[in-house]
Amino acid sequence: MVVSMPSIHTALEHLPSPYETALSQYDRAVQRLDLDDNVKEYMRWPRREFTVNFPVRRDDGRIEMFTGYRVHHSTILGPSKGGIRFSTNVTLDEVRALAMWMTWKCALVNLPFGGAKGGVIVDPKSLSVREKENLTRRYASELIPLISPYADIPAPDMGTGPQEMAWIMDTYSMTVGYSVPAIVTGKPINIGGSQGRTEATGRGVIIVMLEALKRMGRSNPNNTALVIQGFGNVGSHAAAYAYELGFKVVGVSDVDGGIYDANGLNIPKVRDYVAANRTLNGYPGVDHITNSELLTLPCDVLIPAAMEGQLTEDNAPHIHASLIVEGANGPTDTEADDILNDRGILVIPDILANAGGVTVSYFEWVQGLQEFFWDTDEVFRQLERVLIKAYDATASMTEKQGTDMRTAAQMLAIKRVGDALLTRGFYP
Ligand code: GLU
Repeated sequence: MVVSMPSIHTALEHLPSPYETALSQYDRAVQRLDLDDNVKEYMRWPRREFTVNFPVRRDDGRIEMFTGYRVHHSTILGPSKGGIRFSTNVTLDEVRALAMWMTWKCALVNLPFGGAKGGVIVDPKSLSVREKENLTRRYASELIPLISPYADIPAPDMGTGPQEMAWIMDTYSMTVGYSVPAIVTGKPINIGGSQGRTEATGRGVIIVMLEALKRMGRSNPNNTALVIQGFGNVGSHAAAYAYELGFKVVGVSDVDGGIYDANGLNIPKVRDYVAANRTLNGYPGVDHITNSELLTLPCDVLIPAAMEGQLTEDNAPHIHASLIVEGANGPTDTEADDILNDRGILVIPDILANAGGVTVSYFEWVQGLQEFFWDTDEVFRQLERVLIKAYDATASMTEKQGTDMRTAAQMLAIKRVGDALLTRGFYP
């Protein structure tokens, strides 16, 4: 048996720290809130953090050790909710930040959930399907003491999707002895998933973008150019919906780099190409650019939909877009936020812009518990209702406070969680 240690130096190379960004956003928001100091301190801390090292049998018979995390930031408003990420960049610091953002996201859109996140340090592309199943099931079984439909409900995130959720649902169900569809969201539809869940985050990004453009007096899609960083579950569905509505998507990218066409890309063709080749590399008839070039392309709307820490003080001064809609969690660090705000660029924060995913996750959880399923129209109608209501509340708070939308959104969310904490009281 050969045992190899996981690579831990990614943790050290991963700068800036997403958790530092999350905390500085938090400190900025609470400073404006009239909240009990004990409550302010309490909410800075993750409630519990779980680290597990576990074995996975590779196809050649070797056993390899992997490291995974699950952080519950808050359970004040209900069971904790949040995705599971498979990526070589996963660190405890990152998972901690993502869990905290889930708390604010759920509170902002008024879902009865706290916030959580999980992650495994692994490149999912380096595993065969069987190895991925082994890894997912073993990680899921390690999570059993922490998860339940009433305690903590995982979902997909970067590097995971419906298939991984099916394996988690099956592993949990086999352990307890009966089927528990509501243990995860983002499941395939044939085992209790919701219509519209796969598209929900990307669609939500565009719903929020439309609302922002409407308020800016720019309602004509034909002369609005979009650039989207990331062509995974969020970016590709956002691109598809924007294209369907008549927007010009001039640039998109994935981990390998970006493509640009000033006249607008044919998004259905780009999606077909990616489905066949698993990369944008080599897509014909367009300019090929780097991810950093993509962010500073001439455009009206920039949608960072890849990962944290993409907009920094280095590129923020060079961004052309007048509107940024954060499809990813934490794509903008605090320095970049200040630069973008000073430049008058409107930033729709992650906890509002990408809340479509967890909103439809909530619908899926409710449908699962009630065993009563909705059609796609109903899902999208309710999704729009929830997001527009949260947008309205955030916009009013922004105006009332004379601040940026991120601070306003976090203030609303933190106040809701803080008030609930005071109502419940500190135990014992
Ligand atoms: N991973 C998604 C997010 O960051 C969805 C989480 C969920 O549906 O629970 O919002």
